Amino acid sequence: MKQIEHIGIAVKDMESAGKIYEKLLNTSVYKTEVIESEGVKTTFLQVGPNKIELLEATATNSPISNFIAKKGEGIHHIAFDVEDIIAEMARLKNEGFILLNDTPKEGADNKLVCFVHPKSANGVLIELCQTKP
Ligand code: ZN
Repeated sequence: MKQIEHIGIAVKDMESAGKIYEKLLNTSVYKTEVIESEGVKTTFLQVGPNKIELLEATATNSPISNFIAKKGEGIHHIAFDVEDIIAEMARLKNEGFILLNDTPKEGADNKLVCFVHPKSANGVLIELCQTKP
């Protein structure tokens, strides 16, 4: 694990949330992307070395709509930057963590990603991400 890559925040309305975070961080959204396979639309803002990812559901069965229905809007996951996602997944599996996918998936922002079940990380959904070579 190198560092926190970004913090993911589940929002109901990307348009208004984007404006709020642009004001809060005094910067502009630099990227918006739809991840069709996840039923999610993402927007990124950067402040110093840190990124915030806003996530909005694009489908009613999206993990984001389920999350908001259960917990409301708010912090959804913490993502860590990793050098070698395959090695890190194997290490965590070996340590007893529950991985939500067996192979890395295509994520937003040119990343390969894998999620760690919140049950195995004290209630926090963890995302591993490796910049695609
Ligand atoms: Zn993320």
